Amino acid sequence: MTNQFSTRVVHNKLNQTTALNSKATPIYQTSAFTFSDLDHLESYYSGETPYLYTRENNPNTDELGQAAANLEEAEDGAAASSGISAIMAGILSIAQAGDHIVTAEDIYGGTHQLITKQLSSFGIEYTMVSFADPDAIRSAIKPNTKLLYTESITNPFLRVEDIQGLVTLAKEYDLKTMVDNTFATPYLLQPYKQGVDLVAHSATKYIGGHSDVTSGIVTGHKDLIAKAKQKIIGLGTNLSPFEAWLTQRGSKTLALRMKQQSANAQHVASVLKKDDGVEKVYYPEFVSDRGNGAIVTIELAQQVDFESFFKSLGWIKLAPTLAGVETTVSYPIRTSHRALSPEEQENLGITDYTIRLSIGIEEAEDIAAQFQQAIRDSIK
Ligand SMILES: *Cc1c(COP(=O)(O)O)cnc(C)c1O
Repeated sequence: MTNQFSTRVVHNKLNQTTALNSKATPIYQTSAFTFSDLDHLESYYSGETPYLYTRENNPNTDELGQAAANLEEAEDGAAASSGISAIMAGILSIAQAGDHIVTAEDIYGGTHQLITKQLSSFGIEYTMVSFADPDAIRSAIKPNTKLLYTESITNPFLRVEDIQGLVTLAKEYDLKTMVDNTFATPYLLQPYKQGVDLVAHSATKYIGGHSDVTSGIVTGHKDLIAKAKQKIIGLGTNLSPFEAWLTQRGSKTLALRMKQQSANAQHVASVLKKDDGVEKVYYPEFVSDRGNGAIVTIELAQQVDFESFFKSLGWIKLAPTLAGVETTVSYPIRTSHRALSPEEQENLGITDYTIRLSIGIEEAEDIAAQFQQAIRDSIK
């Protein structure tokens, strides 16, 4: 496909021929598919008939996996029941018991848990280091290292990963790379095109975009995605047809949403930078020509009562997620980074005053004004 991103995202539909030529893809809400006779059944195994059993594959999950691959301009993609299960399938397609992976230390809390508590219990070793320091990565690499894992924009301080540098370093040691591209979305960054092997998303966030579905996606090289699909089937972490359909429906407005949300976030960041009630604003200086993302993290000044700030936000809700069309705030120390030790939290710089803003599609002036009012109303 040669069309631009905004065009492709809307026309990202698998050519499922349906008897009624429906404009939208129907929801194949079925656990299995039927066969007229044994020859027909055999034709599934020879690849002529596409569907057998929904845990293995389904037109809606296929459509979403393929759509995600198109957005990342990757060879193939697979949908999974959540961002975490997509990340797990991706890692397991590269590493198994006895292998070692090196990950950035500032990854999403749930991924931190996945790697330190779950995958380690399967025998996959890990080392977490600062990916801002290539020497730290080099010294963490061991003979059994298989993978370097990071996020294109980290949480909550929005460090933009040097993907090109990471790919070069990985090639030197013959390692695979995997990047969680949830915060940036393929609208802003396409790590696969920069040489990353696997790109994962919590599609619960911007790809779905409407806070009404939990789902995940992993895209990349055909052979790795084939392995990831086997993990999803074998571990039973498939996405349901309806959730795939919802995610795919939401994804059609990804370009429009990210454009508006990034522009709004830029405005909110610049307004809050000038506000005395804000000690520090974290917002990337440059992510892409299309914008710098829609998450802004702030450190409230000590004269602001952070408990009262949450009560003064009016129509902006406290929600432990991000990326919806509504502006929301989250509180990393009590949600996404709650499981970290106080020492780890301190090392990352997460305090009682750290608040992550997920900027929505509302009018930029209204969003900024609501935050400024909440700050004014919470001065001690
Ligand atoms: C939310 C999130 C995840 C986990 O996704 P789920 O859909 O909740 O499983 C992974 N990575 C990042 C960056 C996230 O924000």
